[in-house]
Amino acid sequence: MAQVIGFIGLGIMGRPMAKNLLKAGYPLVVHNRSRAPVDELVRAGARASTSPREVAAQCEVLVTMLPNSPDVEQVALGKDGIIEGARRGLIYVDMSTISPIVSQKVGKALAASGVTMLDAPVSGGEKGAIDATLSIMVGGDKAVFDAVLPIFEAMGRTITHLGPLGFGGFTKLANQIIVAGNLTALAEALTLAKKAGLDRDLTLTALAGGLAGSKCLEQKRSNYLANAYTPGFKIDLHYKDLGLIMESARALGVPLPTTAVVQELFNALRVKGRGGLDHSAVITLLEDLAGVSA
Ligand code: NAP
Repeated sequence: MAQVIGFIGLGIMGRPMAKNLLKAGYPLVVHNRSRAPVDELVRAGARASTSPREVAAQCEVLVTMLPNSPDVEQVALGKDGIIEGARRGLIYVDMSTISPIVSQKVGKALAASGVTMLDAPVSGGEKGAIDATLSIMVGGDKAVFDAVLPIFEAMGRTITHLGPLGFGGFTKLANQIIVAGNLTALAEALTLAKKAGLDRDLTLTALAGGLAGSKCLEQKRSNYLANAYTPGFKIDLHYKDLGLIMESARALGVPLPTTAVVQELFNALRVKGRGGLDHSAVITLLEDLAGVSA
């Protein structure tokens, strides 16, 4: 019999990830703050639940995909939280991008109730979540990682155990430095090309074929061509990650000069009311500065 899996947080990423677990044959119990995505998952075959406590009481492995550290702390340790419903032996896998320090704190609190935690943030975007091709970066006990590997394999393609709890998170923060920097470089390059009068489609084709080619360019190409920035990955969430990156960098004594500038560009986008757009919309800010907005 396949393990019963609990899934909390059915947003842009959580919804398709949960659906892939159903497709792989796992019985699924789901919960989300708003009701609509729960109903969608129930139509796909999942069982609905009204609180994290109730989910925890019904499953052997519990996955969360929530926005930020305070959300994970509340769902795991707050009133009606996982800690109140968990049976000893529950494996808790948090796949959100949060502070690695908070992951370690939550893991320690849950361990006292016999719950083992892995942090397993992901990269690959909404498309990777839908196609089950995510890169999953895992921290925590290796034997527990081995036990839940088939569950990860139902959601991702590159699955890496990086070390103890929190190491998944540190890897994801490194990932987010690269993605934010890459999207900002793409934004500057495409704005220069636009002001010079170049055709965007041809420019992107030429860039994609050389050393400047990247997954960011491939995945965001249609956004740049349509000048449409529906998320995807929201600027608000990437700004949150940039904050986590700078916090960790300061704690570890690592200067990140380029990322600090990128963080301010993302801050400016939020000030302009664009926090709900896809992170590739950093190009709209550069176009504003260059006077070539659409
Ligand atoms: P999202 O669309 O905002 O989804 C978050 C979900 O969590 C929403 O459905 C929200 O419910 C639910 N939620 C929030 N607080 C809750 C609570 N206390 N109890 C139950 N449910 C709660 O965000 P997302 O894009 O899926 O991202 C989720 C995480 O994955 C973030 O940490 C993000 O940084 C990371 N990530 C995202 C991407 C991407 O491309 N989107 C890629 C890699 C990693 P409501 O419906 O009420 O809002």
